[in-house]
Amino acid sequence: MAQTEQPGAASGPAEVGPVVAGPALRAYQERLQAELDELTVQAEELEQAANANTAEGSGEVGFDEEFSDAGSYTFERERDLSLSNNARDLIDKIGRALARIDRGTFGRCEACGNPIEPDRLDALPYATLCLEDARRRVRLR
Ligand SMILES: [Zn+2]
Repeated sequence: MAQTEQPGAASGPAEVGPVVAGPALRAYQERLQAELDELTVQAEELEQAANANTAEGSGEVGFDEEFSDAGSYTFERERDLSLSNNARDLIDKIGRALARIDRGTFGRCEACGNPIEPDRLDALPYATLCLEDARRRVRLR
């Protein structure tokens, strides 16, 4: 019981309305958009690399000595696809965070409706859960 209710924020159930607003919200929006652009380029490059690895004998692969046996083709391709899937995953999360900015629900926990901790949001702008709910979800797995 370290924290008591904050004066002024104590009336009624969880407040409706943006948790983050004004310049802070715009800063998040710009940050997310920049990250989205970067990841989109990365994902495309990785997918192209993965596809290039399947195009045998195209001569444009660039790491010829690495591809002297078939095993490394597969490995490189798998790795590129896995990285591009990670990037796509993150792109998805960031896209949803940007949509939440538009809807005014950005920064609010999707499970309990409370604001997500500012430190957490700063570290993970696409977080959809407050720390407590995120921990709970991890334990459930
Ligand atoms: Zn929560």
